[in-house]
Amino acid sequence: KVAVFAELHRKSRECGMANHTLLAEVTERRRAQEQLRELNETLEQRVTERTEALAMTSAALIESGERYRSLVDGSLDAIFSLGTDGRFEAANPATLRLVGRKLEELKTVHFLKFCAPDQREAADNVFLAGFCRECITMDTTVITATGERRDLFISGVPAIVGGEVVGVLCIARDITERNQTERAMKDASAAKDQFLAVLSHELRTPLTPVRVAISIWERRKDELPPEFQQDLAMIRRNVDLECRLIDDMLDLNRIAHGKLELQFAPVDLNAEVRHALQMVEGEAAAKQVVLSFDPDAAHAEVVGDAARLQQVFWNLLQNAVKFTPPGGSVGVRTYNTPDGRVRVEVRDNGAGIESGVIKGIFNAFEQGGAQVTRQFGGLGLGLAISKALADMHGGTLTAHSEGKGRGATFTLDLELAAPTEPAAEDRRTPVPTSLELSVAHREQTIRILLVEDHRDTARIMKRLLRSLGYDVLTAANVAEAIMAAETHAFDLIISDIGLPDGSGYDVMRHMLARRPTNGIAVSGYGMAEDVLRARDAGFAAHLTKPINLEQLEITIKRVTGSDSVSTKGGQ
Ligand code: ADP
Repeated sequence: KVAVFAELHRKSRECGMANHTLLAEVTERRRAQEQLRELNETLEQRVTERTEALAMTSAALIESGERYRSLVDGSLDAIFSLGTDGRFEAANPATLRLVGRKLEELKTVHFLKFCAPDQREAADNVFLAGFCRECITMDTTVITATGERRDLFISGVPAIVGGEVVGVLCIARDITERNQTERAMKDASAAKDQFLAVLSHELRTPLTPVRVAISIWERRKDELPPEFQQDLAMIRRNVDLECRLIDDMLDLNRIAHGKLELQFAPVDLNAEVRHALQMVEGEAAAKQVVLSFDPDAAHAEVVGDAARLQQVFWNLLQNAVKFTPPGGSVGVRTYNTPDGRVRVEVRDNGAGIESGVIKGIFNAFEQGGAQVTRQFGGLGLGLAISKALADMHGGTLTAHSEGKGRGATFTLDLELAAPTEPAAEDRRTPVPTSLELSVAHREQTIRILLVEDHRDTARIMKRLLRSLGYDVLTAANVAEAIMAAETHAFDLIISDIGLPDGSGYDVMRHMLARRPTNGIAVSGYGMAEDVLRARDAGFAAHLTKPINLEQLEITIKRVTGSDSVSTKGGQ
């Protein structure tokens, strides 16, 4: 009985324990179920959220797709894609309009078929680069359905799908009209250049004999009655002004077209300033304006175009004298700046410049802040040209004034020539301190053949050269020049370039074929290429009309006086 009770007790204890475990299990299950439910709920919420997000994304995608489609369909540029076989896969309406064909038609043909035959090879090469994963750009010409040629600028990118190049996506802009306009502008610009070159020639030609005649009379000034002396000075002033206007117009045109070429060589700024001062001495004296010069720069050697730098100084000095009343003063000073450059300062105590005006003072066709008037003469070009020349020399030209009536200062800063530059002495154009170049010491008379078809110029030049002590024979064309050379020997040929039956180059070549002869070319064309052509033809120097007497004299001396060939010429 005890054993039975003990067994019962053990069983019931086991039962209680099993019950307890079961209960724990049930609780655990419940909790797990609860968790599962919660998880389910979260999942559902997430799914809902995701679905919503997806719907939004797809809406955005549809919208962006539509936007892109509107862009592609509405684009005025042709947008198309080519497959790797070179056939069209898709094309927007602008493409179809451009080539005048339907999409189905395009899809059956190779894109090269639309290119103009002369462009196919180049286009093929460019597209091949596109298929090799390169971004491409090219100008090409296509032929439309009506046979019309249209110029296109195409840019393309490789279409890459899953890492593979599947074609090229292109945008093409029709640039036919733009090209036509550019061509027309180029033609017009070439025609304008040509016109200006001819115009300058025609304008310079009649001035040449006038200038030479003035020089002849100026040498005998003291013999002339006072009235004539005044007239002569007036004629000289106006002819010089006319020459300057022609030169300024031409210079500005060349600068605008990037055609102004500089002949760089070592230049001593002090010497060039001195030379420019000499050129305005007469005007300053006539106006009772005192000129002074302080060459304080110990190092004044720069690499530049001597003639052009002189033009800048002359221009600044002319303005300074022009805008300074009688009794005033104009001073030039050169000095080395602490930053290792050389500065040329042209200072006057004249009219001054208002601060509002100074900003635009270097603009072409402006005088004192206003458009050009006829009050002071000139075209308002001098400073614009000077500024451009300073820039071309890597220099800075600035203007400063305390205000109206308080004078003006113009400053040109230039880099010094590197100290390793060879001494400039040998190459520099000699600056004459006195222009009294006499022929009295010449031992043997130099024989000159003057070839010039402009009758007045020939006559006056002959007179001038004879007055300088030279033997002169004239010829009016190539044939006459050749004939003269057969019967006479000459030490020097001075020849015009444009002749009725050929050119001065022909004359020079002919002379050189016979025997070594010195030659000076004289022409109304003063472009760098004219100087080079003259040199190529064998001329030792080139002078531009209207000829400056002093320069002619110096050039003749240089060309005939030594064997060294100098091509420094023109003005
Ligand atoms: P222009 O040859 O017509 O004088 P510039 O370009 O040389 O043309 O000069 C333009 C203008 O700048 C002049 O008309 C004048 O108003 C002003 N200017 C130039 N230099 C001076 C100066 N030293 N003093 C006062 N004004 C000046």
